[in-house]
Amino acid sequence: MFDKTTWIRLPRNVVVGHGVLSETTDAIAELHLGGRPLVVTSPTAREVAGERVVADFADGGTEPATVVVERASFGAVERVIETARETEAGFLVGVGGGKPIDIAKMASDSLDMGFVSVPTAASHDGIVSGRGSVPEGDSRHSVAAEPPLAVVADTEIIADAPWELTTAGCADIISNYTAVRDWQLANRLQNVEYSEYAGALSQMTAEMLVDNADSIKRGLEESAWVVVKALVSSGVAMSIAGSSRPASGAEHLFSHQLDRIAPGAALHGHQVGVGSILTEYLHSGEAGRWKNIRDALAGLGAPTAAAELGIDETAIVEALTTAHAIRDRYTILGNGMNESAAREVATTTGVIGGK
Ligand SMILES: [Zn+2]
Repeated sequence: MFDKTTWIRLPRNVVVGHGVLSETTDAIAELHLGGRPLVVTSPTAREVAGERVVADFADGGTEPATVVVERASFGAVERVIETARETEAGFLVGVGGGKPIDIAKMASDSLDMGFVSVPTAASHDGIVSGRGSVPEGDSRHSVAAEPPLAVVADTEIIADAPWELTTAGCADIISNYTAVRDWQLANRLQNVEYSEYAGALSQMTAEMLVDNADSIKRGLEESAWVVVKALVSSGVAMSIAGSSRPASGAEHLFSHQLDRIAPGAALHGHQVGVGSILTEYLHSGEAGRWKNIRDALAGLGAPTAAAELGIDETAIVEALTTAHAIRDRYTILGNGMNESAAREVATTTGVIGGK
């Protein structure tokens, strides 16, 4: 008997382009959400985009509530939840870089409310996916919630964000290569369900980004376009898979460990990029394409070594030897690396020990 079922949750409206911030309220109106909007933003993003969104809502006859969050923390999520209740909000609009969006996403998950993503930077694929996490003590609190109902990404605004945020977004996409390899490995060794379609889409997204690397340059608005489209397509791959597997393998586990060992030292995307060099080497050794990954990152101006991340070498080795244990996700790290093996792969790939 055929009894397979699948449930794919995708954003309904994805609006990307020059000046599209002014279309935010239209993109939201089409969703037929009830109630008052609560705009979740950060001090900088409020100036750059949040105030304009609030004003556009007001022009249309809706008075949104606003909450400004300074940093990603569990307390900030709680504060957004309280504000949503006090202001009788009907849905949440996250306006900002990664943090306000992660916070809004997590709050909307607990509130069981709709969520719209208005990124002002293209720093990681969380702007279009359901995944979100904020630090809590020395660990992270994560959710695997639904993706945003709509994404409005104004390339004019995103192109103005600090350049390293864009290179971090690129590196997060390049890490799809190793994420897919880990997923295939888990499928072969552990019978983890693999989706050919989601795997191929994720891999193709990374390839297209690398092929278009020439149009990814500081000061070019086209960069924002290429990166946002790739982040959207990564998000779609995760929606199809119903998990973060297409975009998150051992390189992400490594990065989560770095977040614990050296909190705030480097951007998520930059950490997973370096992680991808290391885990690609573990997959296929010296002859493999770890050098292609390293060169692609270097070409975009993303870090390829510990020193560029601002993370010391012992932290890299510690992250490599402990990453396998932090979540039940089978990857090339298997049951874990010992210290000398970790030191060797990090040295051979030039991640530690200078060049
Ligand atoms: Zn990521």
